[in-house]
Formats: sequence, C-alpha cells, structure tokens
Amino acid sequence: MNFDDTPQEAEFRAKARAFLEQHLEPLNPDEVSPNLLGEREDEGAIQKAKDWQATKYDNGWAVLTWPKEYGGQGMGRLENVIFNQEEGKFKTPAAIYGIGHGMLGPTLMTHGTEEQKERYLKEMARGQVVWCQLFSEPAAGSDLAGLRTSAVKDGDEWVLNGQKIWSTGAHFCDLGMIVTRTDPELPKHDGLTYFIVDMNAPGVECRPIKQINGGAGFNEVFFNDVRVPAEYRVGGIGEGWKVAITTLMNERVSIGAGGGAGRTKDLFRLARECRKNGRPAIEDTAVRQRLADAFITSKGLQYTGYRTMSAISRGATPGPEGSIGKAVGAPFSQELAAFAMELQGVMGGVMDSSVAPQDAMWQESYLGSPGIRIAGGTDEILRNVIAERVLGLPGEHRSDKGVPFRDIPSGS
Ligand SMILES: Cc1cc2nc3c(=O)[nH]c(=O)nc-3n(C[C@H](O)[C@H](O)[C@H](O)COP(=O)(O)OP(=O)(O)OC[C@H]3O[C@@H](n4cnc5c(N)ncnc54)[C@H](O)[C@@H]3O)c2cc1C
Repeated sequence: MNFDDTPQEAEFRAKARAFLEQHLEPLNPDEVSPNLLGEREDEGAIQKAKDWQATKYDNGWAVLTWPKEYGGQGMGRLENVIFNQEEGKFKTPAAIYGIGHGMLGPTLMTHGTEEQKERYLKEMARGQVVWCQLFSEPAAGSDLAGLRTSAVKDGDEWVLNGQKIWSTGAHFCDLGMIVTRTDPELPKHDGLTYFIVDMNAPGVECRPIKQINGGAGFNEVFFNDVRVPAEYRVGGIGEGWKVAITTLMNERVSIGAGGGAGRTKDLFRLARECRKNGRPAIEDTAVRQRLADAFITSKGLQYTGYRTMSAISRGATPGPEGSIGKAVGAPFSQELAAFAMELQGVMGGVMDSSVAPQDAMWQESYLGSPGIRIAGGTDEILRNVIAERVLGLPGEHRSDKGVPFRDIPSGS
C-alpha cells in the first residue's frame, strides 16, 4: 500500500501549510504541543481560540467538510485529515470546537429546520458562539436513554427541569443541545425530545467540577423551570433518540483517532534523557523491551488509522475501526504515561511543568487519560459494540425493552 500523498493531496497540503505559516508559530520537533498540555480554559485562552477560528473562517479554512451554504468548504474528509495533520505541527489555541463542529453541527444539518440551519450554522462555523452537549446525567451515561431531565409543554414554550453532568465547556458556552424526557408513559427510547437551549436563560445553573489534574473543564448543569421556545425543538416530539444517535455517531468518528500513537517519539526521547543504574535508560534491556512493545502498539494504531483514511478516501463512512482505535488507543495512552513517569524516577511525581521533564506532559496525560477511556463510550461499551456489531456475537439481554419508562425501577 502506498501511504504517500497523491499530487493533488500534496498540493493541498502545501497550500494549508502556507496559510498556517502565515498565522501561527511552528512547534519545534522536540516541543510538546500546548494542546497536549491541556491548556486551562480561562477567558484569555477561550478568546484566543475564538480569534483563531475567525481567522480560519475568514480565509476559507474553517469546518472544511461542511457544505458551503452552512459556512464550510464542501471538501472531503481526507482534506480535513491533511489540514488537521498540518495544523498539529503548529502552536494552536485550546481546542474548544470539537463538540460543536464535529457533532452538533452535523446533527442540526440532518434534523434541523431550514430556519435553524440558517440561524445557527454559519455562526457556529465562525466560532464566536460556542456550543456544548447536554446528554449525560448522574444516572444516565452509558444507558443514556434512561435520562430523567423533563420537558413539559406550556403554551408556546417547553419547561425544563433536571440535572446534566460532565458537560464539557458548559461554563463558557452560549448554547447547548439537550435531550429530555417528554413522555414517561412510553418505553425509554420513545419518550425523548431534543432541544437547543440558551445557556444564559434564567434557571440554568452551571457548576464546574474540579478535576484531579487541577483543571475544571466539565460541569454539572442544573435546569430549574427553564423556558425554551417551541422553535428550539430539533426533530419531532418523541424523536429525541433518533436525533441523539446522529450526534453520537459523529462523536465516535471525532474521538476515534488512536490516542497515544504519535507520542512514542517523545517516549524514546525521554528514555534517552533519563538515567537508570548510571546509564541512559534506553540502554537498559527491560526498558528496551517495553519501548519495543510501545512501538509495536503505536504502529498497529497508526495502520488501523490508515485503514480508516483509505476507506474515507474511497468515499466510505468510517466503520468499526473508530471503536477499535479508541478501545486500544485510550488505555495505551494511559500505559505510556505510567511508563514515562516510571522512567523519570522521583521526578515522575512532580506536576510542575517548569521542573518536570517534557513540561510535565506525561503527568498531565496520566491524570487525563482515564477520562478518555470513559468519554464517548467506555472501554466496556466499546467492547460490546465490537462484540455485537463487528463479531456478530449475541446482544446483551435488555430487561427494560418495551417497558413504559415510568415502570422501570429507579432504585430511589
Ligand atoms: C472527559 C469526558 C468528557 C465528557 N463530556 C461530556 C459532554 O460534553 N456531554 C455529555 O453529555 N457527557 C459527557 N461526558 C459523559 C460521558 O458520556 C459518560 O461519562 C459516559 O457515557 C459514561 O457514563 P457514566 O459516567 O454514567 O458511567 P456508567 O454508564 O454508569 O458506567 C459505569 C461503569 O459501568 C460500565 N458499564 C455500564 N454499562 C455497561 C454495560 N452495558 N456492559 C458492561 N459494562 C457497562 C461502564 O463501562 C463503566 O465502567 C464526558 C465524560 C468524560 C469522561
């Protein structure tokens, strides 16, 4: 198989690079991307991200795969991959648009009314209005259809009550997409309805959750008698599950990239810099064995990624490779970080980026990677997907199938 760019792809790559060179500072080969360091999402960082998105939009480089009528460039997924590869070689602001551009925009394109598409999509593409995803609840994550936040019709409006959790970036977002229960008499997948919600509306309360790495990028969001206009409904009443599935299908594709695959280069550099028994750690036999294992896994992930890219270049929709890449890549990221911290000896326990090797990137990654094993489908759920949809094994027993939601025991 030939992994080189075709002449057209090479030309596109050169054009993308020329644009990026005009506006951004390149990363040195030995430097860690600020995004990998999980730049804190303070006001300055958000504004920088908005400025960069506006520059991309104004120069025809934003949301490349979206149709032109919605503010995109009508390009293929492969061009998007090439642009992302090139952008990754530069210092970029915090990545705050993954959910909006990767998941919510495509959902609105599929299920929104013409007025909703006209009103929201270009604005979302230019990035001055930022969107969050309000799906998970304290008792509804993997079993999302078990959610309890209610929406009750009152004249021309809907009234929302309940709680969402783990809402990424909700504290700086202007709008959200929410799934609610509108009919508890129906089986759990049938009584749901999907809405756009104004995050600044009266009754919306955002409480950031402090994370183990010191950041607070996720939130609990409470809805107390929040009034939502009828024209904010996306899809029909009771069709929320169908709309939510569109969002979730796009989520798998956007998170699916094999985590950790690009980081073995940094691990090898670290093994040259750290010492074991008075010699560079890379000369130690046991260390070399683990480096070789890491290299093999990273190559496996890289080639699985190429398989997805070839499918994309042939015009196919990415298949189960997305689940495999995440099921292997997310735990691999965590293992790499644990090994890198071990190599650092006592410095492995130091989070201060001015002191710890490689700007404490591995410590940050060690604390952040368990979340990646949960977000967008936990390890176990991905294995279920692979078992049922790829290997054709029997499905899980679902005892609540067809039962009115009101009659499903809640434990409370
Ligand atoms: C970094 C991060 C960002 C997130 N961002 C968002 C966001 O922006 N918006 C949003 O709505 N949500 C978000 N989430 C929430 C995420 O979607 C949920 O955490 C996820 O779906 C898991 O749900 P849960 O936390 O309720 O765990 P549970 O579903 O309660 O799972 C608990 C454990 O049980 C296992 N389990 C559950 N069901 C099964 C089964 N059928 N078979 C085998 N094992 C099972 C799970 O694998 C897990 O180990 C985010 C989460 C993280 C970590």
